[in-house]
Amino acid sequence: MAASDIDTPSGSNARLRVLVLGGTGEARRLAEALAARPAFEANVSLAGRTRNPLVLALPTRTGGFGGVEGLVAYLEAERIDALIDATHPFAAIMSAHAAEAARIAGVPLLALARPQWEPLPGDIWREAASLAEALTALGAAPRRVFAALGRNEVQALEAAPQHHYLIRSIDPVEARLDLPSAAYIEARGPFAEQDERDLLTGHRIDAVLAKNSGGPETYAKIAAARALGIEVMMITRPARPAVESVADVEAALTWLERRQPLPRPHASPARRGV
Ligand code: NAP
Repeated sequence: MAASDIDTPSGSNARLRVLVLGGTGEARRLAEALAARPAFEANVSLAGRTRNPLVLALPTRTGGFGGVEGLVAYLEAERIDALIDATHPFAAIMSAHAAEAARIAGVPLLALARPQWEPLPGDIWREAASLAEALTALGAAPRRVFAALGRNEVQALEAAPQHHYLIRSIDPVEARLDLPSAAYIEARGPFAEQDERDLLTGHRIDAVLAKNSGGPETYAKIAAARALGIEVMMITRPARPAVESVADVEAALTWLERRQPLPRPHASPARRGV
């Protein structure tokens, strides 16, 4: 972040320094909205899992902070006034760290968390608390499974090698898995329902392995499975910390617009632009 009129007392024309923990479409859209509002000076943080992440409208830092302590140090060094946890609903460790670090550093925190998908009439879901549980729920008999998972988590499929897998990830799965029958495709959403139907039909899929991510961008596979009468092993969300939370970008903006810069009595010379 550039050091601008940061030391202006709260209530004047100081810009609100915001850190957005990203890795989602919501974070990308929030970044766009914040970049267009002069009242904010915001940054996005990415874990760095995706090799070619989409370019964001805000300055972006990449890589872990080094646990809670590292995040506290970052919030203090960057004089962050508000923290937005817009990470993926399955990024449970980062969310827990954000809650703890925000508490220690005294920085207001808001989680931007899209609602989970709920089953509709016609859906055939079996809920599982983890990928391992979902694999068990597939059963012992060989099936043809569509797995839309991150390349960092697909190795777990090796625990159920009796199935044929169609594995879709954003980046290629570099080390091919120790599976007798697997096909790999790379694609980044959003996906259209008709394309998902064609994919499931073309590969004669009889089970979909999915995380309950929520949101429209990856929902098409669920709608396609419903239309085709295909069973979905739905991995439920991990527990997240109990923090103030909103479901969409507009509500996050409203929350941010109500905030004031935190009082900073001991600004460093660098921050004063000296
Ligand atoms: P995680 O297990 O909750 O986090 C593991 C570690 O990765 C954290 O402790 C933190 O390292 C680092 N990290 C995670 N998100 C970060 C961020 N936005 N900025 C800086 N460091 C971050 O998270 P994950 O499941 O690996 O997900 C990583 C990222 O991918 C998240 O940003 C998430 O939004 C995105 N994503 C995840 C999924 C998913 O299914 N999990 C799906 C789509 C996108 P330190 O402890 O060193 O700070």
